Amino acid sequence: MERYIGKSVMKGIAIGRIFLYKKRDYQVTDQKVSDPAAEKECLLAAVERAKEQLTRLYEDAMRNVGEDHAAIFDIHRMLLEDEDYLDAAAGEIESGFNAVYAVDRAGTQFAELFAAMDDEYMRGRAADIRDISQRVIRILLDLPEEDICSDEPVVLLAEDLTPSETVKLDKSKILGFVTVKGSANSHTAILARSMNLPALVGVDIPLADELHGKSCVVDGFEGVFLVEPEDGELSRMVVRKNQWVADLEALEKLKGQDNVTKSGKRIDIFANIGNVEDADAACAADAGGIGLFRSEFLYLGRDTFPSEEEQYESYKAVLEKMEGKKVVIRTMDIGADKKVDYFGLEPEENPALGYRAIRICLDREEIFITQLRALYRAAAHGKLAIMFPMIISVEEVERIKQIVDMVRKDLVSEGKPVGDAELGIMIETPAAAVISDKLAKEVDFFSIGTNDLTQYTLAVDRQNQKLEGICDTHHEALLRLIEMTVKNAHEAGIWVGICGELGADTALTEWFLKIGVDELSVAASAVLKVRGAVRALP
Ligand code: PEP
Ligand code: MG
Repeated sequence: MERYIGKSVMKGIAIGRIFLYKKRDYQVTDQKVSDPAAEKECLLAAVERAKEQLTRLYEDAMRNVGEDHAAIFDIHRMLLEDEDYLDAAAGEIESGFNAVYAVDRAGTQFAELFAAMDDEYMRGRAADIRDISQRVIRILLDLPEEDICSDEPVVLLAEDLTPSETVKLDKSKILGFVTVKGSANSHTAILARSMNLPALVGVDIPLADELHGKSCVVDGFEGVFLVEPEDGELSRMVVRKNQWVADLEALEKLKGQDNVTKSGKRIDIFANIGNVEDADAACAADAGGIGLFRSEFLYLGRDTFPSEEEQYESYKAVLEKMEGKKVVIRTMDIGADKKVDYFGLEPEENPALGYRAIRICLDREEIFITQLRALYRAAAHGKLAIMFPMIISVEEVERIKQIVDMVRKDLVSEGKPVGDAELGIMIETPAAAVISDKLAKEVDFFSIGTNDLTQYTLAVDRQNQKLEGICDTHHEALLRLIEMTVKNAHEAGIWVGICGELGADTALTEWFLKIGVDELSVAASAVLKVRGAVRALP
């Protein structure tokens, strides 16, 4: 048995097998081969194996998540039968190159071809061509699969996971996360919390291929990761896991109850989501609404911008699922750690202090306008509030409001049904907190993003695991900024919530109520825990 220590970012116990998730960690070299016929046979055998994997993935996905999600594996399997693609790869081999290089070349050429097409659907296939080529190359190089291709759910072990990678994972297949890098406020951690899965970051484990498939335990209470646990240890973990599950079940009795203290003070408890399906978890957790829909997740893990129509359908679906409860959708916060190739963003020295979120929207208005059009059309289907991230000035808010007015007028003149929406901003920069008295006069609500507010106030990179020790989320400077923001919001007569991870910190629940926070928006998995904390207060 091997024992590793890490930082727990989500409590709980996961027991299962390791799935070693490795990125595109291979080199493609253009070696010449002496026997092209043998090389072609290797290629065809690898293509066959790739198709078998895809069939298995398709069947698994059909069973677990339904046809909509499964279809992609069928498309990939069909692409692998495309004669032009196979001929192109075979042609490279005939010119004397090795199969890996041949597939890489054919994949790149075809992906470029698709990416240049006018039709949006066809452009989207460029990513699929890259995916299938990488699958075949991994087989040729005898590397583990990147998809979670297993009948039973697994514990995902990785160096690190970017938001783009996490959105592509089949979440029904994951029991828990363990990463070598990452920090408590990284988006992997946020995702783990939203999925209610035990997760550890900063686990110092060498990622040897032999780990793949080994039994393991993730102990998110103690921050321990056990590989091939001994029988005694395993039985102890099973007992603790059962206790954890029983504790979760006990929280269920809080469903349908009000978020009110014994002396009658109440607060709204909403949920944070990253996609349409998360709204189901929010409903199941009895959240009072959605306090933060991170809309940028709709932009990640794909090759082209989501169209107005696509976005409209997603926002509408969430509003309908929430059946009249408030849904706060944040306009896209791309940039910093949330990178998307098709935005064509230049590399930056300090991405967290760089070109991100509203800065992109106000610079590349066409992207912003598409999203706002989708939002206002969706507003006709429920109770929508729109909020803008990374605000630092009143001028930004004034410009946003001008664009919003223009978008609404255009939609009306086109005869499209539009709805109303509250307009709010995130307070997640010290600048916004300090001038929150002025900002409060411009908007309908504030939502305090404590993840970024912490990093910018303390000058502590939220991604940097080495700084965890000084990342004090109860730092007096941060708490003063929060208190000041709440006071300024109320003086201007607007409501104020907290949508950063600090909202779920029950050590602060009493204080949040005391200073008058109106709403806490937390991971769906934390809604009932926070409700319990509120109800336990005098
Ligand atoms: C925050 O910064 O607190 C926040 C909620 O936004 P994100 O974590 O997505 O940056
Ligand atoms: Mg933020």
